[in-house]
Order: sequence, then structure tokens, then C-alpha cells
Amino acid sequence: MDQQSAQQELQQLRSQLNQERTAYYTNDAPLVEDHVYDQRYERLLALEKQFPQLVTPNSPSQLVGGQVLPEFSKVSHEIPMLSMGDVFSWQELEEFNQRIKKAVGHAVDYCVELKIDGLALSLVYQQGHLQQGSTRGDGQIGEDVTKNVRTIKNIPVDLPQKVDLEVRGECFMPKESFQKLNNQREQDGENVFANPRNAAAGSLRQLNAHVTQARDLSTFIYTVVEPAVLGVTTQAQALEKMQAWGFHTNVDYFVSHDLEGLQEFIEKYQTLRNDLPYGIDGIVLKVNDLALQQQLGNTVKVPRWEIAYKFPPEEAQTKIKEIVWTV
Ligand code: NAD
Repeated sequence: MDQQSAQQELQQLRSQLNQERTAYYTNDAPLVEDHVYDQRYERLLALEKQFPQLVTPNSPSQLVGGQVLPEFSKVSHEIPMLSMGDVFSWQELEEFNQRIKKAVGHAVDYCVELKIDGLALSLVYQQGHLQQGSTRGDGQIGEDVTKNVRTIKNIPVDLPQKVDLEVRGECFMPKESFQKLNNQREQDGENVFANPRNAAAGSLRQLNAHVTQARDLSTFIYTVVEPAVLGVTTQAQALEKMQAWGFHTNVDYFVSHDLEGLQEFIEKYQTLRNDLPYGIDGIVLKVNDLALQQQLGNTVKVPRWEIAYKFPPEEAQTKIKEIVWTV
């Protein structure tokens, strides 16, 4: 392909993807299924890799999330809330592992977690008291949803110690609550939500906290922004400590050395995903050592020390799974 054709295709892709991003992130009303968006986005990345001179600052490859709604007060994230790189095959996971080994000079342990299908949430505590809750927004500026997060039952309002702390995690709506909510909305002649992820986002991003309270939202917390405050040095320790401090963390994780046991974990949850009470769209592989995470750092959009392995969409699952494990 020559540069001019690439330029034309890129312009079309960017315009389409940006429309879809606004619908998904800002309006909580997606125009297309995730795997359709993902395929278009992968095409954009492939073209930008071939023609790096055509990358523009407003390309979706350089942007995190979406714009905040003007009705909300804005919260500035001192440490940006980033997106996450994703892969779709075992071969790409191995390439990620090779990149990590090359960068740090040896094999590492990974903390392997489920990728919860919700929206990212930041919780800030001052002197051990919940002070602020905010959405990711565009990664730098999020929406203030403090009143709303106070209505979510499994978010602790007070911590066991009077420390300043920021944790981050996923806000989601359990599948059963999503079904009930949509049934009710249908009966009331209201628009239904496309999926639990959009229902969670639409329910958290409410100006009236009573509406949020009436929806059954939940959280899994997975990141501590200042690990030293909790005295932890690995991601697995952070999960344990956060749980001990009253946060709702997901216990379905394990520590893998150099991709050991990872294939079984992926296969297990690819099969189990329909039976879980909450939505997952893949698994996340994180370098377990928090000092190494710091050393590896981030690109403008994603941390270099973690990657998501995305599950194939439900209908194409069997076919793609065969391809994945034979590459
Ligand atoms: P992402 O949602 O694929 O991954 C990053 C996010 O994963 C984090 O911000 C965090 O909120 C979440 N996460 C869940 N479990 C986690 C865990 N255990 N540890 C750490 N993080 C965890 O990335 P993104 O940039 O938010 O969104 C991109 C995805 O959104 C696309 O791949 C696409 O599927 C979807 N999308 C869909 C449309 C559409 O029109 N359907 C439009 C835009 C984006």
C-alpha cells in the first residue's frame, strides 16, 4: 500500500473510531459491538506501524478513554489513569513476555487477573476517610462521582488506618442486576442498556446520587497508587492487603512465573466466563514486582508492564480458540 492510500484509510478509520469512542465512553451508548471496534482499531495500529510518519496526536492510538461530560465537576488525575495494551493470541502473549524479559534482563513473575468488564474508578482517601471518587475520563481529567460512589455498598468509607491513599479498580454491574434493570426499563418504556458495562457506566455517571443508589453497582479494586503506604512490594501483596483493609478485590488471580500455568488459566476462564456473576472480557497479565513496573514505565497510552489478553467474542469463540493455540 502506498502512503497516500494509507493516509486516506487512516482518516476514515480515525473519524469512524472517534465517533464510536464518543458514543461508548461519553454517552454510554455504543454504536457497534466491542469486537467490531477492536478489529477497526487493530487495523489503525497496523497502518500506523507501517507508516509512523502518519500518526497524529488526535489518533485514537494516542488517546485514552473519552471526554468528560460538562455537567460533572472535573477531577485532575495526578498520576494519569491509562488504557491497556491488548493481544488476541498466544503468540502475541509470548512476544509481550519476550519484550519484558529483554527489558529487565531475566524472566519475571506475573500477577494474572481477570479483566473485569466495567469502567475504571479512582478512590481517594485522606486521613483514612473517603474523600473523592472519580472516573477515568480522558486519563488526565475525570468526572467527580464522589456522592455516587458513597452509595456503593462494597466501597469502604473509612480505612483501618488514618492514611492518605489512592486506589483504583473497576466499577461494574452484576449480570443479574443488569437483567432486572433492563426488564424494568422495558416495562417502563425506557431505552434498555446494551450490556452490563454500559449499564454500570450510565448508573455511576449520574447527577442524582439517588439514581446510582437504586442501581446495584459493585467494585473490584486492583491498584494501589502509593504501595509504600500499604507496605507492599508486589501486585499480589497489594491485592491481599487491600482486601484486608476492606476493599472488595477479586480472589481469582494467581502468580505465574514466565507464563507458567497461564494457558490453563485462560482456558478455564474462557469456559467459565458465562457462569460468573459479572462480566469479564479477558485476563490481565501484570509484572508482579512493583519496582519493576516503575522501571518499565508507560507509553503515552498504556503501561509497558501489563497486557490484556482479550477473549474472542462469544459467537466466534470456538473458531478463534483453535487458531489461538495452534499459532
Ligand atoms: P480496556 O477497557 O480494554 O482496558 C483497560 C481497562 O481495563 C482499565 O482502564 C481498567 O478499567 C480495566 N480493567 C479491568 N480489569 C482490570 C484489572 N484486573 N486490572 C487492571 N485493569 C483492569 O481499554 P480501554 O482503553 O478502556 O477501552 C478499549 C476497549 O473498549 C476496546 O478494546 C473496546 O473493546 C472497548 N470500546 C468499545 C467501543 C464500542 O463502540 N463498542 C468503543 C470504544 C472502546
